[in-house]
Amino acid sequence: MQTLTHYIAGERHAGTGQRFGDVYNPATGAVTARVPLACDADVDAAVAAARRAFSAWADTPPLKRARILFRFKELLGQRQGQLAELISAEHGKLVPDAVGEVTRGLEVVEFACGIPHLLKGEYSPQVGSDIDSFSLRQPLGVVAGITPFNFPAMVPMWMFPVAIACGNTFVLKPSERDPSAALFLADLLKEAGLPDGVFNVVHGDKQAVDALLRHPDVMALSFVGSTPIARYIYETGAAHGKRVQALGGAKNHLVVMPDADLDQAVEALIGAAYGSAGERCMAISVAVAVGNVADALVAKLAARARGLKIGSGSQPDAEMGPLVTRQHLERVQGYIAGGVEAGAELVVDGRAYRPPQDGDGFFLGASLFDHVTPQMAIYREEIFGPVLCVVRVDDFEQALALINRHEFANGVSLFTRSGGVARAFSQRIQVGMVGVNVPLPVPMAFHSFGGWKASLFGDHAMHGPEGVRFYTRVKTVTSRWPDTLSAEFVMPTMQ
Ligand code: NAD
Repeated sequence: MQTLTHYIAGERHAGTGQRFGDVYNPATGAVTARVPLACDADVDAAVAAARRAFSAWADTPPLKRARILFRFKELLGQRQGQLAELISAEHGKLVPDAVGEVTRGLEVVEFACGIPHLLKGEYSPQVGSDIDSFSLRQPLGVVAGITPFNFPAMVPMWMFPVAIACGNTFVLKPSERDPSAALFLADLLKEAGLPDGVFNVVHGDKQAVDALLRHPDVMALSFVGSTPIARYIYETGAAHGKRVQALGGAKNHLVVMPDADLDQAVEALIGAAYGSAGERCMAISVAVAVGNVADALVAKLAARARGLKIGSGSQPDAEMGPLVTRQHLERVQGYIAGGVEAGAELVVDGRAYRPPQDGDGFFLGASLFDHVTPQMAIYREEIFGPVLCVVRVDDFEQALALINRHEFANGVSLFTRSGGVARAFSQRIQVGMVGVNVPLPVPMAFHSFGGWKASLFGDHAMHGPEGVRFYTRVKTVTSRWPDTLSAEFVMPTMQ
Protein backbone atom coordinates (compact mmCIF):
# COMPACT_ATOMS: atom_id res chain seq x y z
CA MET A 1 0.00 0.00 0.00
CA GLN A 2 1.21 3.48 -0.91
CA THR A 3 2.24 5.92 1.83
CA LEU A 4 1.77 9.51 0.71
CA THR A 5 3.99 12.45 1.68
CA HIS A 6 3.76 16.17 2.28
CA TYR A 7 5.27 18.53 -0.32
CA ILE A 8 7.54 21.21 1.09
CA ALA A 9 10.05 23.49 -0.66
CA GLY A 10 9.68 21.61 -3.95
CA GLU A 11 10.34 18.18 -2.43
CA ARG A 12 8.35 15.21 -1.20
CA HIS A 13 8.60 15.27 2.58
CA ALA A 14 7.72 12.26 4.76
CA GLY A 15 6.99 14.46 7.76
CA THR A 16 7.83 13.87 11.38
CA GLY A 17 4.31 13.17 12.64
CA GLN A 18 3.49 9.71 13.92
CA ARG A 19 -0.15 9.67 12.87
CA PHE A 20 -1.62 8.46 9.56
CA GLY A 21 -5.09 8.38 7.99
CA ASP A 22 -6.57 5.78 5.65
CA VAL A 23 -7.53 6.70 2.09
CA TYR A 24 -10.27 4.52 0.54
CA ASN A 25 -11.48 3.59 -2.90
CA PRO A 26 -15.18 4.29 -2.25
CA ALA A 27 -16.30 1.96 -5.04
CA THR A 28 -14.67 -1.10 -3.42
CA GLY A 29 -14.36 -0.04 0.20
CA ALA A 30 -10.66 -0.98 0.13
CA VAL A 31 -7.93 1.12 1.77
CA THR A 32 -5.60 2.24 -1.05
CA ALA A 33 -3.13 4.56 0.69
CA ARG A 34 -2.01 6.00 4.00
CA VAL A 35 -1.78 9.75 4.37
CA PRO A 36 0.52 11.35 6.95
CA LEU A 37 -1.27 13.65 9.40
CA ALA A 38 1.01 16.63 10.03
CA CYS A 39 2.23 17.61 13.47
CA ASP A 40 3.11 21.22 14.34
CA ALA A 41 6.72 20.77 13.18
CA ASP A 42 5.58 19.71 9.69
CA VAL A 43 3.34 22.79 9.42
CA ASP A 44 6.21 24.97 10.66
CA ALA A 45 8.48 23.51 7.95
CA ALA A 46 5.93 24.26 5.21
CA VAL A 47 5.27 27.81 6.42
CA ALA A 48 9.03 28.44 6.77
CA ALA A 49 9.59 27.26 3.17
CA ALA A 50 6.79 29.56 1.96
CA ARG A 51 8.21 32.46 3.95
CA ARG A 52 11.71 31.96 2.51
CA ALA A 53 10.30 31.95 -1.02
CA PHE A 54 8.09 35.01 -0.52
CA SER A 55 10.24 38.08 -1.14
CA ALA A 56 11.80 36.82 -4.40
CA TRP A 57 8.40 35.67 -5.65
CA ALA A 58 6.68 38.93 -4.70
CA ASP A 59 9.44 40.83 -6.56
CA THR A 60 9.04 38.70 -9.68
CA PRO A 61 7.23 40.78 -12.31
CA PRO A 62 3.56 39.76 -12.58
CA LEU A 63 4.08 38.98 -16.27
CA LYS A 64 6.72 36.37 -15.38
CA ARG A 65 4.46 34.90 -12.72
CA ALA A 66 1.69 34.73 -15.32
CA ARG A 67 3.98 32.91 -17.80
CA ILE A 68 4.54 30.13 -15.25
CA LEU A 69 0.78 29.87 -14.81
CA PHE A 70 0.36 29.68 -18.60
CA ARG A 71 2.73 26.68 -18.63
CA PHE A 72 0.86 25.13 -15.69
CA LYS A 73 -2.42 25.58 -17.57
CA GLU A 74 -0.96 23.79 -20.63
CA LEU A 75 0.29 20.88 -18.50
CA LEU A 76 -3.01 20.64 -16.64
CA GLY A 77 -4.88 20.51 -19.94
CA GLN A 78 -2.62 17.69 -21.17
CA ARG A 79 -2.90 15.62 -17.95
CA GLN A 80 -6.55 16.35 -17.17
CA GLY A 81 -7.60 12.74 -17.79
CA GLN A 82 -4.93 11.35 -15.45
CA LEU A 83 -5.91 13.76 -12.68
CA ALA A 84 -9.62 12.96 -13.17
CA GLU A 85 -8.94 9.23 -12.69
CA LEU A 86 -6.98 9.96 -9.52
CA ILE A 87 -9.86 12.05 -8.17
CA SER A 88 -12.44 9.41 -9.05
CA ALA A 89 -10.40 6.65 -7.38
CA GLU A 90 -10.31 8.47 -4.01
CA HIS A 91 -13.56 10.44 -4.10
CA GLY A 92 -15.83 8.05 -6.01
CA LYS A 93 -17.29 10.56 -8.47
CA LEU A 94 -17.64 9.65 -12.15
CA VAL A 95 -14.53 10.21 -14.26
CA PRO A 96 -16.34 12.60 -16.69
CA ASP A 97 -17.60 14.56 -13.65
CA ALA A 98 -14.01 14.75 -12.37
CA VAL A 99 -12.91 16.02 -15.82
CA GLY A 100 -15.55 18.76 -15.39
CA GLU A 101 -14.15 19.60 -11.96
CA VAL A 102 -10.61 19.93 -13.33
CA THR A 103 -11.90 22.12 -16.17
CA ARG A 104 -13.59 24.49 -13.72
CA GLY A 105 -10.30 24.73 -11.80
CA LEU A 106 -8.34 25.26 -14.99
CA GLU A 107 -10.58 28.21 -15.79
CA VAL A 108 -9.39 29.92 -12.60
CA VAL A 109 -5.81 29.39 -13.81
CA GLU A 110 -6.82 31.06 -17.12
CA PHE A 111 -8.23 33.96 -15.12
CA ALA A 112 -5.05 34.23 -13.04
CA CYS A 113 -2.95 34.34 -16.24
CA GLY A 114 -4.36 37.85 -16.72
CA ILE A 115 -2.79 39.04 -13.46
CA PRO A 116 -0.72 41.92 -14.92
CA HIS A 117 -3.98 43.51 -15.97
CA LEU A 118 -5.81 42.60 -12.76
CA LEU A 119 -3.12 44.18 -10.56
CA LYS A 120 -3.15 47.52 -12.38
CA GLY A 121 -3.60 50.26 -9.81
CA GLU A 122 -5.28 53.64 -9.86
CA TYR A 123 -3.56 56.92 -10.62
CA SER A 124 -4.77 60.46 -9.94
CA PRO A 125 -2.56 63.29 -11.14
CA GLN A 126 -2.81 66.69 -9.45
CA VAL A 127 -4.71 65.64 -6.31
CA GLY A 128 -3.28 68.90 -4.94
CA SER A 129 -0.98 71.49 -6.49
CA ASP A 130 1.89 69.51 -8.04
CA ILE A 131 0.85 66.45 -6.04
CA ASP A 132 0.06 63.06 -7.59
CA SER A 133 -1.44 60.00 -5.95
CA PHE A 134 -1.52 56.35 -6.93
CA SER A 135 -2.82 53.15 -5.36
CA LEU A 136 -1.32 49.74 -5.84
CA ARG A 137 -2.15 46.26 -4.60
CA GLN A 138 0.60 44.23 -2.92
CA PRO A 139 0.66 40.57 -1.88
CA LEU A 140 0.07 39.62 1.75
CA GLY A 141 2.88 37.07 2.30
CA VAL A 142 2.32 33.42 3.22
CA VAL A 143 -1.33 32.44 2.76
CA ALA A 144 -2.96 29.07 3.48
CA GLY A 145 -5.83 27.13 1.95
CA ILE A 146 -7.85 24.44 3.78
CA THR A 147 -10.07 22.46 1.46
CA PRO A 148 -12.91 19.88 1.56
CA PHE A 149 -13.08 16.36 0.15
CA ASN A 150 -15.74 16.98 -2.47
CA PHE A 151 -13.63 18.91 -5.01
CA PRO A 152 -10.03 17.89 -4.31
CA ALA A 153 -8.68 19.70 -7.40
CA MET A 154 -11.18 22.48 -8.15
CA VAL A 155 -11.47 24.04 -4.70
CA PRO A 156 -7.68 24.33 -4.20
CA MET A 157 -7.65 25.90 -7.68
CA TRP A 158 -10.24 28.47 -6.57
CA MET A 159 -7.46 29.67 -4.28
CA PHE A 160 -3.81 29.10 -5.19
CA PRO A 161 -3.70 30.29 -8.84
CA VAL A 162 -4.98 33.73 -7.82
CA ALA A 163 -2.95 33.80 -4.59
CA ILE A 164 0.37 33.00 -6.24
CA ALA A 165 -0.34 35.15 -9.31
CA CYS A 166 -0.74 38.08 -6.88
CA GLY A 167 2.74 37.32 -5.49
CA ASN A 168 1.89 35.37 -2.33
CA THR A 169 3.31 32.00 -1.39
CA PHE A 170 0.92 29.21 -0.50
CA VAL A 171 0.46 26.32 1.95
CA LEU A 172 -2.38 23.94 1.03
CA LYS A 173 -3.96 21.64 3.64
CA PRO A 174 -6.19 19.45 1.46
CA SER A 175 -8.83 17.03 2.72
CA GLU A 176 -7.24 13.96 4.27
CA ARG A 177 -9.91 11.82 2.57
CA ASP A 178 -8.68 12.38 -1.02
CA PRO A 179 -5.19 13.88 -0.71
CA SER A 180 -3.49 12.71 -3.95
CA ALA A 181 -4.84 15.42 -6.28
CA ALA A 182 -2.95 18.09 -4.29
CA LEU A 183 0.36 16.28 -4.84
CA PHE A 184 -0.40 15.87 -8.54
CA LEU A 185 -0.96 19.64 -8.80
CA ALA A 186 2.27 20.34 -6.86
CA ASP A 187 4.26 18.23 -9.35
CA LEU A 188 2.69 20.06 -12.31
CA LEU A 189 3.48 23.46 -10.79
CA LYS A 190 7.11 22.42 -10.37
CA GLU A 191 7.27 21.16 -13.95
CA ALA A 192 5.80 24.50 -15.07
CA GLY A 193 8.76 26.27 -13.46
CA LEU A 194 7.29 27.51 -10.17
CA PRO A 195 10.17 28.26 -7.75
CA ASP A 196 10.46 25.88 -4.80
CA GLY A 197 8.58 26.99 -1.70
CA VAL A 198 5.94 29.06 -3.53
CA PHE A 199 3.45 26.17 -3.30
CA ASN A 200 3.53 23.62 -0.45
CA VAL A 201 1.20 20.86 0.70
CA VAL A 202 0.75 19.61 4.26
CA HIS A 203 -1.73 16.82 4.85
CA GLY A 204 -3.55 16.47 8.10
CA ASP A 205 -6.56 17.03 10.27
CA LYS A 206 -7.53 19.47 13.04
CA GLN A 207 -3.97 19.54 14.42
CA ALA A 208 -2.53 20.81 11.12
CA VAL A 209 -5.38 23.31 10.71
CA ASP A 210 -4.92 24.65 14.23
CA ALA A 211 -1.18 25.04 13.65
CA LEU A 212 -1.94 27.14 10.55
CA LEU A 213 -4.55 29.18 12.41
CA ARG A 214 -2.07 30.05 15.16
CA HIS A 215 1.02 30.51 13.03
CA PRO A 216 2.30 34.11 13.17
CA ASP A 217 3.71 33.93 9.62
CA VAL A 218 0.40 32.95 7.99
CA MET A 219 -1.19 36.21 6.89
CA ALA A 220 -4.47 34.92 5.46
CA LEU A 221 -6.58 31.76 5.38
CA SER A 222 -9.00 30.58 2.74
CA PHE A 223 -11.30 27.79 3.87
CA VAL A 224 -14.01 25.73 2.18
CA GLY A 225 -15.89 23.05 4.11
CA SER A 226 -18.81 22.55 6.47
CA THR A 227 -20.41 25.45 8.36
CA PRO A 228 -19.35 24.56 11.94
CA ILE A 229 -15.71 24.35 10.87
CA ALA A 230 -16.00 27.47 8.64
CA ARG A 231 -17.31 29.45 11.62
CA TYR A 232 -14.48 28.12 13.81
CA ILE A 233 -11.85 28.99 11.19
CA TYR A 234 -13.25 32.50 10.74
CA GLU A 235 -13.42 33.25 14.46
CA THR A 236 -10.06 31.69 15.37
CA GLY A 237 -8.24 33.15 12.37
CA ALA A 238 -9.64 36.61 13.08
CA ALA A 239 -8.68 36.31 16.76
CA HIS A 240 -5.11 35.66 15.57
CA GLY A 241 -5.19 38.77 13.39
CA LYS A 242 -5.50 37.01 10.04
CA ARG A 243 -7.57 37.85 7.00
CA VAL A 244 -10.07 34.99 6.56
CA GLN A 245 -12.58 33.87 3.95
CA ALA A 246 -14.45 30.74 5.10
CA LEU A 247 -17.05 29.15 2.86
CA GLY A 248 -19.45 26.79 4.60
CA GLY A 249 -22.28 24.38 3.90
CA ALA A 250 -25.45 24.73 1.90
CA LYS A 251 -29.07 23.77 1.45
CA ASN A 252 -29.90 24.84 -2.07
CA HIS A 253 -33.51 25.18 -3.24
CA LEU A 254 -34.90 24.95 -6.77
CA VAL A 255 -38.30 26.60 -7.18
CA VAL A 256 -40.62 25.13 -9.82
CA MET A 257 -43.28 27.68 -10.81
CA PRO A 258 -46.58 26.44 -12.29
CA ASP A 259 -45.64 27.89 -15.70
CA ALA A 260 -42.24 26.11 -15.82
CA ASP A 261 -41.47 23.52 -18.48
CA LEU A 262 -41.92 20.50 -16.21
CA ASP A 263 -39.69 18.12 -18.15
CA GLN A 264 -36.86 20.64 -18.11
CA ALA A 265 -37.32 21.22 -14.38
CA VAL A 266 -37.28 17.46 -13.70
CA GLU A 267 -34.08 16.93 -15.71
CA ALA A 268 -32.48 19.89 -13.94
CA LEU A 269 -33.46 18.53 -10.52
CA ILE A 270 -32.30 14.98 -11.21
CA GLY A 271 -28.84 16.12 -12.35
CA ALA A 272 -28.45 18.74 -9.62
CA ALA A 273 -29.73 16.57 -6.76
CA TYR A 274 -28.06 13.26 -7.56
CA GLY A 275 -25.00 14.28 -9.64
CA SER A 276 -21.82 13.46 -7.70
CA ALA A 277 -24.13 11.60 -5.26
CA GLY A 278 -25.30 14.97 -3.91
CA GLU A 279 -21.82 15.70 -2.53
CA ARG A 280 -21.65 19.19 -4.03
CA CYS A 281 -22.03 22.48 -2.19
CA MET A 282 -24.15 23.63 -5.13
CA ALA A 283 -26.26 20.44 -5.24
CA ILE A 284 -30.00 21.06 -5.14
CA SER A 285 -31.41 19.31 -2.08
CA VAL A 286 -34.85 20.97 -1.91
CA ALA A 287 -37.41 21.23 -4.72
CA VAL A 288 -40.01 23.89 -3.92
CA ALA A 289 -43.19 22.95 -5.78
CA VAL A 290 -45.41 26.00 -6.27
CA GLY A 291 -49.20 25.71 -6.60
CA ASN A 292 -50.60 22.77 -8.51
CA VAL A 293 -47.27 21.61 -9.95
CA ALA A 294 -46.41 19.25 -7.06
CA ASP A 295 -48.20 15.97 -7.94
CA ALA A 296 -46.94 15.84 -11.52
CA LEU A 297 -43.45 16.94 -10.45
CA VAL A 298 -43.15 14.24 -7.78
CA ALA A 299 -44.41 11.52 -10.15
CA LYS A 300 -41.87 12.42 -12.81
CA LEU A 301 -39.01 12.81 -10.31
CA ALA A 302 -39.79 9.43 -8.75
CA ALA A 303 -39.71 7.64 -12.11
CA ARG A 304 -36.34 9.22 -12.99
CA ALA A 305 -34.84 8.64 -9.51
CA ARG A 306 -35.78 4.94 -9.56
CA GLY A 307 -34.08 4.46 -12.93
CA LEU A 308 -30.75 6.13 -12.12
CA LYS A 309 -27.72 4.08 -13.17
CA ILE A 310 -25.39 3.68 -10.22
CA GLY A 311 -21.84 2.41 -10.56
CA SER A 312 -18.16 3.02 -9.96
CA GLY A 313 -16.61 6.24 -11.26
CA SER A 314 -15.05 4.46 -14.23
CA GLN A 315 -18.22 2.62 -15.35
CA PRO A 316 -19.03 4.24 -18.72
CA ASP A 317 -22.84 4.47 -18.41
CA ALA A 318 -23.02 5.28 -14.67
CA GLU A 319 -24.91 8.43 -13.63
CA MET A 320 -24.03 8.36 -9.93
CA GLY A 321 -21.12 6.88 -7.95
CA PRO A 322 -20.67 5.88 -4.30
CA LEU A 323 -20.40 8.17 -1.28
CA VAL A 324 -16.97 9.10 0.01
CA THR A 325 -16.72 6.97 3.17
CA ARG A 326 -18.72 4.36 5.08
CA GLN A 327 -19.13 6.82 7.93
CA HIS A 328 -20.69 9.37 5.57
CA LEU A 329 -22.92 6.68 4.02
CA GLU A 330 -24.23 5.78 7.46
CA ARG A 331 -24.83 9.46 8.28
CA VAL A 332 -26.94 9.91 5.12
CA GLN A 333 -28.85 6.67 5.87
CA GLY A 334 -29.52 8.10 9.33
CA TYR A 335 -31.06 11.25 7.81
CA ILE A 336 -33.37 9.10 5.63
CA ALA A 337 -34.55 7.16 8.69
CA GLY A 338 -35.03 10.44 10.55
CA GLY A 339 -37.12 11.90 7.72
CA VAL A 340 -39.48 8.90 7.79
CA GLU A 341 -39.78 9.17 11.55
CA ALA A 342 -40.56 12.90 11.31
CA GLY A 343 -43.49 12.14 8.99
CA ALA A 344 -42.18 13.00 5.51
CA GLU A 345 -43.32 10.68 2.72
CA LEU A 346 -40.39 8.61 1.41
CA VAL A 347 -41.41 8.17 -2.23
CA VAL A 348 -38.13 6.55 -3.33
CA ASP A 349 -35.91 4.80 -0.76
CA GLY A 350 -32.26 4.72 -1.83
CA ARG A 351 -31.40 2.37 1.03
CA ALA A 352 -32.99 -0.45 -0.96
CA TYR A 353 -30.28 -0.22 -3.62
CA ARG A 354 -27.86 -3.19 -3.86
CA PRO A 355 -24.75 -2.96 -6.06
CA PRO A 356 -24.65 -5.70 -8.71
CA GLN A 357 -20.98 -6.55 -8.13
CA ASP A 358 -19.57 -8.07 -4.99
CA GLY A 359 -17.57 -5.67 -2.88
CA ASP A 360 -17.92 -3.37 0.01
CA GLY A 361 -18.37 -0.04 -1.77
CA PHE A 362 -20.15 2.91 -0.14
CA PHE A 363 -23.15 2.90 -2.50
CA LEU A 364 -26.57 4.37 -1.82
CA GLY A 365 -29.45 4.78 -4.26
CA ALA A 366 -31.32 8.01 -4.93
CA SER A 367 -33.93 8.97 -2.30
CA LEU A 368 -36.92 11.26 -2.77
CA PHE A 369 -39.05 12.73 0.02
CA ASP A 370 -42.40 14.48 -0.50
CA HIS A 371 -44.44 16.59 1.99
CA VAL A 372 -41.29 17.79 3.76
CA THR A 373 -41.87 20.67 6.19
CA PRO A 374 -39.46 23.42 7.32
CA GLN A 375 -39.29 22.03 10.87
CA MET A 376 -37.82 18.67 9.81
CA ALA A 377 -34.07 18.02 10.15
CA ILE A 378 -33.96 16.72 6.56
CA TYR A 379 -35.04 20.24 5.50
CA ARG A 380 -32.98 22.32 7.95
CA GLU A 381 -29.67 20.46 7.85
CA GLU A 382 -27.20 19.73 5.07
CA ILE A 383 -27.34 16.00 4.26
CA PHE A 384 -24.68 16.06 1.50
CA GLY A 385 -25.94 12.88 -0.14
CA PRO A 386 -28.38 11.72 -2.86
CA VAL A 387 -31.54 12.83 -1.03
CA LEU A 388 -34.02 15.28 -2.58
CA CYS A 389 -36.79 16.84 -0.46
CA VAL A 390 -39.96 18.27 -2.01
CA VAL A 391 -41.62 21.11 -0.08
CA ARG A 392 -45.07 22.19 -1.30
CA VAL A 393 -46.05 25.90 -1.14
CA ASP A 394 -49.08 27.80 -2.43
CA ASP A 395 -47.46 30.65 -4.31
CA PHE A 396 -44.32 32.58 -5.24
CA GLU A 397 -44.36 34.74 -2.07
CA GLN A 398 -44.38 31.63 0.12
CA ALA A 399 -41.48 30.15 -1.86
CA LEU A 400 -39.47 33.35 -1.44
CA ALA A 401 -40.19 33.60 2.30
CA LEU A 402 -39.30 29.93 2.85
CA ILE A 403 -35.88 30.28 1.22
CA ASN A 404 -35.10 33.63 2.83
CA ARG A 405 -35.73 32.12 6.28
CA HIS A 406 -33.17 29.32 5.80
CA GLU A 407 -29.88 29.44 7.66
CA PHE A 408 -27.88 28.61 4.52
CA ALA A 409 -27.74 30.84 1.45
CA ASN A 410 -25.23 29.40 -0.99
CA GLY A 411 -27.08 28.81 -4.27
CA VAL A 412 -30.69 28.84 -5.46
CA SER A 413 -32.52 28.30 -8.72
CA LEU A 414 -35.88 29.22 -10.25
CA PHE A 415 -37.62 27.50 -13.16
CA THR A 416 -40.24 29.67 -14.85
CA ARG A 417 -41.21 31.11 -18.23
CA SER A 418 -42.00 34.55 -16.76
CA GLY A 419 -39.36 37.25 -17.03
CA GLY A 420 -41.18 39.35 -14.43
CA VAL A 421 -41.17 36.57 -11.83
CA ALA A 422 -37.53 35.77 -12.59
CA ARG A 423 -36.53 39.39 -12.14
CA ALA A 424 -38.42 39.75 -8.87
CA PHE A 425 -36.82 36.52 -7.62
CA SER A 426 -33.28 37.62 -8.53
CA GLN A 427 -33.80 40.96 -6.77
CA ARG A 428 -35.51 39.76 -3.60
CA ILE A 429 -33.86 36.42 -2.85
CA GLN A 430 -31.25 36.54 -0.07
CA VAL A 431 -28.81 34.03 -1.53
CA GLY A 432 -25.33 34.57 -2.98
CA MET A 433 -25.61 32.67 -6.29
CA VAL A 434 -28.85 32.65 -8.24
CA GLY A 435 -29.89 30.62 -11.30
CA VAL A 436 -32.82 31.29 -13.60
CA ASN A 437 -33.62 28.11 -15.54
CA VAL A 438 -30.05 27.06 -14.63
CA PRO A 439 -29.89 24.33 -11.97
CA LEU A 440 -26.32 24.84 -10.69
CA PRO A 441 -25.53 28.56 -10.95
CA VAL A 442 -21.78 28.19 -10.36
CA PRO A 443 -20.17 31.49 -11.37
CA MET A 444 -17.42 31.37 -13.99
CA ALA A 445 -13.82 32.03 -12.92
CA PHE A 446 -13.93 35.73 -13.90
CA HIS A 447 -16.89 36.29 -11.59
CA SER A 448 -16.62 35.32 -7.92
CA PHE A 449 -17.98 32.30 -6.03
CA GLY A 450 -19.59 32.66 -2.64
CA GLY A 451 -22.82 32.38 -0.70
CA TRP A 452 -24.39 34.53 2.00
CA LYS A 453 -25.36 33.97 5.64
CA ALA A 454 -24.06 30.68 7.15
CA SER A 455 -22.59 29.71 3.77
CA LEU A 456 -19.77 32.29 3.88
CA PHE A 457 -17.95 33.91 6.78
CA GLY A 458 -15.82 36.87 5.76
CA ASP A 459 -16.02 39.74 3.31
CA HIS A 460 -14.73 38.20 0.11
CA ALA A 461 -16.00 35.46 -2.16
CA MET A 462 -13.47 33.29 -4.03
CA HIS A 463 -11.64 33.77 -7.35
CA GLY A 464 -12.56 36.44 -9.88
CA PRO A 465 -12.14 40.07 -8.79
CA GLU A 466 -12.96 39.19 -5.16
CA GLY A 467 -10.05 36.73 -5.11
CA VAL A 468 -7.61 39.41 -6.23
CA ARG A 469 -8.92 41.74 -3.51
CA PHE A 470 -8.64 39.04 -0.86
CA TYR A 471 -5.03 38.12 -1.71
CA THR A 472 -3.72 41.71 -1.93
CA ARG A 473 -3.76 44.84 0.19
CA VAL A 474 -3.99 48.38 -1.05
CA LYS A 475 -1.21 50.89 -0.63
CA THR A 476 -1.72 54.52 -1.62
CA VAL A 477 1.30 56.69 -2.46
CA THR A 478 1.05 60.47 -2.51
CA SER A 479 4.03 62.34 -3.94
CA ARG A 480 5.33 65.74 -4.90
CA TRP A 481 8.75 67.06 -5.89
CA PRO A 482 8.93 70.54 -4.33
CA ASP A 483 11.80 73.02 -4.66
CA THR A 484 11.16 74.27 -1.12
CA LEU A 485 9.13 72.86 1.75
CA SER A 486 8.07 74.55 4.99
CA ALA A 487 6.36 73.04 8.01
CA GLU A 488 2.57 72.85 7.92
CA PHE A 489 0.72 72.85 11.25
CA VAL A 490 -2.83 72.57 10.04
CA MET A 491 -4.40 69.59 8.35
CA PRO A 492 -3.63 69.95 4.62
CA THR A 493 -6.79 70.61 2.59
CA MET A 494 -7.50 71.53 -0.99
CA GLN A 495 -8.25 75.26 -1.34
P1 NAD B 1 -15.19 19.49 6.59
O1 NAD B 1 -15.64 20.78 7.18
O2 NAD B 1 -15.34 18.24 7.37
O3 NAD B 1 -13.62 19.58 6.23
C1 NAD B 1 -13.08 20.65 5.50
C2 NAD B 1 -11.62 20.83 5.90
O4 NAD B 1 -11.56 21.15 7.28
C3 NAD B 1 -10.77 19.59 5.69
O5 NAD B 1 -9.52 19.97 5.17
C4 NAD B 1 -10.64 19.00 7.10
O6 NAD B 1 -9.44 18.32 7.31
C5 NAD B 1 -10.72 20.24 7.97
N1 NAD B 1 -11.34 19.96 9.28
C6 NAD B 1 -12.27 19.02 9.56
N2 NAD B 1 -12.61 19.07 10.87
C7 NAD B 1 -11.89 20.06 11.42
C8 NAD B 1 -11.81 20.60 12.74
N3 NAD B 1 -12.53 20.12 13.76
N4 NAD B 1 -10.96 21.63 12.96
C9 NAD B 1 -10.22 22.13 11.96
N5 NAD B 1 -10.25 21.66 10.68
C10 NAD B 1 -11.07 20.63 10.41
O7 NAD B 1 -15.90 19.38 5.15
P2 NAD B 1 -15.90 18.13 4.14
O8 NAD B 1 -16.75 17.04 4.69
O9 NAD B 1 -14.51 17.82 3.71
O10 NAD B 1 -16.63 18.80 2.89
C11 NAD B 1 -18.01 18.88 2.76
C12 NAD B 1 -18.52 20.22 3.23
O11 NAD B 1 -17.91 21.27 2.50
C13 NAD B 1 -20.02 20.40 3.00
O12 NAD B 1 -20.57 21.03 4.13
C14 NAD B 1 -20.08 21.31 1.78
O13 NAD B 1 -21.24 22.08 1.66
C15 NAD B 1 -18.90 22.18 2.02
N6 NAD B 1 -18.47 22.81 0.79
C16 NAD B 1 -18.77 24.13 0.64
C17 NAD B 1 -18.42 24.78 -0.53
C18 NAD B 1 -18.75 26.23 -0.72
O14 NAD B 1 -18.29 26.78 -1.68
N7 NAD B 1 -19.52 26.86 0.14
C19 NAD B 1 -17.74 24.08 -1.54
C20 NAD B 1 -17.43 22.74 -1.34
C21 NAD B 1 -17.81 22.11 -0.16
